Amino acid sequence: MSKNITRKSFLKHAGTALTIASVGFPSIIIPRKKEKIGVALVGLGSYAGGQLAPALQETEYCELRGIVTGTPSKIPEWQERYGIRDQNVYNYENLHEVANNDDIDVIYIVTPPGVHARDAIVAAEAGKHVWCEKPMAMDEEECQNIIDAASKNGVQLTIGYRMQHEPNTQTVIKFGREETYGVITGVQTGAGYSGAHRDPENWRRNPDLGGGALYDMGVYPINAARFATGMEPIAVKGRQWSDREEMYSDVDEHTDFEMEFPNGVIATGETSFGNSTNYLNVECTDGWYRLSPMQSYRGVQGETSDGRELPPAGINQQARQMDNDARAILDGKDPIVPGEDGLADIRIVKAIMESSQRGGEWIEL
Ligand code: NAD
Repeated sequence: MSKNITRKSFLKHAGTALTIASVGFPSIIIPRKKEKIGVALVGLGSYAGGQLAPALQETEYCELRGIVTGTPSKIPEWQERYGIRDQNVYNYENLHEVANNDDIDVIYIVTPPGVHARDAIVAAEAGKHVWCEKPMAMDEEECQNIIDAASKNGVQLTIGYRMQHEPNTQTVIKFGREETYGVITGVQTGAGYSGAHRDPENWRRNPDLGGGALYDMGVYPINAARFATGMEPIAVKGRQWSDREEMYSDVDEHTDFEMEFPNGVIATGETSFGNSTNYLNVECTDGWYRLSPMQSYRGVQGETSDGRELPPAGINQQARQMDNDARAILDGKDPIVPGEDGLADIRIVKAIMESSQRGGEWIEL
């Protein structure tokens, strides 16, 4: 199944056949074959290998069927571990040939952000649905080019913001929409880790590949402020700096920022490669609620001003995200996190960078 439309028309005809069959033979129950979406992972690094490939084994609607890598030495182990067929192994030069491969429905881009647009556009033009990791791409133009390629080729595009699939996060989004604790008056949020990227070749140190704390971790608090309020900011300001210049001379080690929303609400955000932070606090006219941690792989939990507990959901976030995205394809519905959501965050990232260069002044969006 290479395109939604193909599958839809298949289902339409299959549905007619099933109706005729059941009218003719009412006592026969025809079991509905559960379809699985064939996924190929692009970029076999730590997130693909440590999280996504294992999570795919836990999904109901997905199957890891392909790999795309520029490192041939990784191929035998991946093939053996996940039973990947020879014809489903690609590199970056021949990825376009996936157009002729019905095993693969989705190309999941898990490379450094600086090459997301390149691979996502090849995938869309091959007629494959695109799942793209955060941050979506380097700038608004690249994001828009991915969106346009997906739309032109009639394929789905979704960004790997796993938090929007997480149950406690979804509860908090609902609190905001339903004004359960009144109107939101303030948001404070942060995501960062106390780490180090010692290898000078590490892409997280390279501005051309999407390095720096803001692109890598800052999109979590930016996305959180947007999904918590359900609004788009009208202005942002920020400050970026590095304490460990020997490691982060070309990218930000830390970024602090503020986002102003149309009703005057200010969200303050922080991100870092040097300080560990992981929270989303939402203040409202009639109370408050918070998540902490708010973006860990496991154990996202929260509490509210009236004593309600949001205990860890005990799910595999990545499996849930990929199953939700696969269901959207199978059912022909919009995905939870469309490409526009990734673009909106990148617009803010770029404005925060501009603000920092201008001494922290407000940048209107
Ligand atoms: P990584 O460095 O461990 O892996 C990146 C892979 O891309 C490597 O296998 C590398 O060989 C390959 N690659 C292909 N083209 C490359 C190029 N031009 N330069 C460098 N490497 C190239 O990185 P990662 O931590 O796996 O991150 C990959 C993507 O996944 C990023 O977009 C990152 O933000 C995202 N990510 C998301 C989450 C999440 O929770 N959603 C978590 C971690 C990483």
